[in-house]
Amino acid sequence: MRYTFRIALVATVILAGASAAARRQTDVHSTIIDAPQLLRDLQTLSADDMQGRQVDTEGGAKARAFVIERFKASGIKPFGESYEQPFTFTAGRGAAGTTPERHGVNVVGYIEGSRQPTRYIVISAHYDHIGVRNNVVNNGADDNASGTAALFAVAKYFSTHKPANSLLFAAFDGEESGLRGSRAFVAKPVVDAASMVIDLNMDMIGRDPNNLLYVVGLITLVLSGPSRLSLDYWIKRRINHEIEKS
Ligand SMILES: [Zn+2]
Repeated sequence: MRYTFRIALVATVILAGASAAARRQTDVHSTIIDAPQLLRDLQTLSADDMQGRQVDTEGGAKARAFVIERFKASGIKPFGESYEQPFTFTAGRGAAGTTPERHGVNVVGYIEGSRQPTRYIVISAHYDHIGVRNNVVNNGADDNASGTAALFAVAKYFSTHKPANSLLFAAFDGEESGLRGSRAFVAKPVVDAASMVIDLNMDMIGRDPNNLLYVVGLITLVLSGPSRLSLDYWIKRRINHEIEKS
């Protein structure tokens, strides 16, 4: 999960296990987000009929239609007419050694900030996964239906608790093919790149049963002036996990 704005934060958040939550579906609750809805979204995105959500496939298109529906319902507005930001890339092997062109579509929208509407905090997650291999659907519940479902939950919260800065929500396609969606987003941003001050990217937040939160990628975070990352959570945390390891 590595891409860079002028200032970039790439975070991987591992929250209370969604798989554990699935076992105790009636237990899920939160005073901040609609936890049962979050779980339903995760289950819908990772169901067999999404066919593993691979970029440029029917399953991928079905997942995207669901993401758009949930963006709308969560109070996210499109930039212009559509949430869809299509892009192309070449990958894999075609007939006679050709490299076929593939089509991906990012889903992008925003919630307007009350104080600094032209300053954007990006909240992103890739919605694609690796599709069907050897007749087996790779459901990708953790990677990354969990992060995608979390986009909707975060948006729903901020649709009624208006943020000071605008929030730009991006569900990226083609991540599993080499970060294609996020590369396309950075190459052709929907708003001035300088107005995006940070990106919180969520990938695989459904796994850890010990309530650990990993925030990685802070090594690329360079803030000018006084700044503080305030993360007052109810869970244990590890900042700059990748630095601790090295
Ligand atoms: Zn991922």
